Amino acid sequence: MNLVFLGPPGSGKGTQAVRVAEKLAIVHLSTGDMLREAVKKGTPLGRKAEAYMKKGELVPDELIIGMIEDKVTSGDLNNGFILDGFPRTIPQAQSLKDMFRKNKIALDKAILLMVSDEEIIKRIKGRAEQEGRADDTESVARNRLEVYRRQTEPIIDFYRQESILTEIRGEDTMDNVFKAILKVLE
Ligand code: AMP
Repeated sequence: MNLVFLGPPGSGKGTQAVRVAEKLAIVHLSTGDMLREAVKKGTPLGRKAEAYMKKGELVPDELIIGMIEDKVTSGDLNNGFILDGFPRTIPQAQSLKDMFRKNKIALDKAILLMVSDEEIIKRIKGRAEQEGRADDTESVARNRLEVYRRQTEPIIDFYRQESILTEIRGEDTMDNVFKAILKVLE
């Protein structure tokens, strides 16, 4: 099973991706986690990415695409995967499609978690207090949401046209959303 998880920041996408990956015994690949790790280690990629992440902006496509390409070509994804937080722009979605074609990988579904702006701001503020993530202050949260609407939302149509988009209501308990996802994967 090869999946892409889509949804605004704070939609619960990351949490659900971890749970679904565990349930299906497939790889969970989060570009946000990979970047945070690179920042922590102070790698060249991490040093370049840090300023964008702090502002809630997207890291440039070429940096992210290179990072994902390494994973796709390493064979790590052969037994199935969930991409969480990638793609986030049309050029990323297009590159992914090309990479998959070259490596003979088929994407089964793009799962979109739908949550209203109001609910997202509420959740992100809550998470900022709990986890102290540097990119979770309210102004950064609002910027991340705007960046999502402007740069990431267009890829919803990209996957709709590929006929692999499934929309799921994300404003429910974590367990109910999890069950709804598993149901569409049956
Ligand atoms: P996330 O944990 O997925 O919310 O990602 C945290 C931050 O990492 C984002 O706000 C971006 O700055 C950066 N990031 C993660 N994935 C991508 C991506 N696919 N393209 C560009 N920037 C990304």
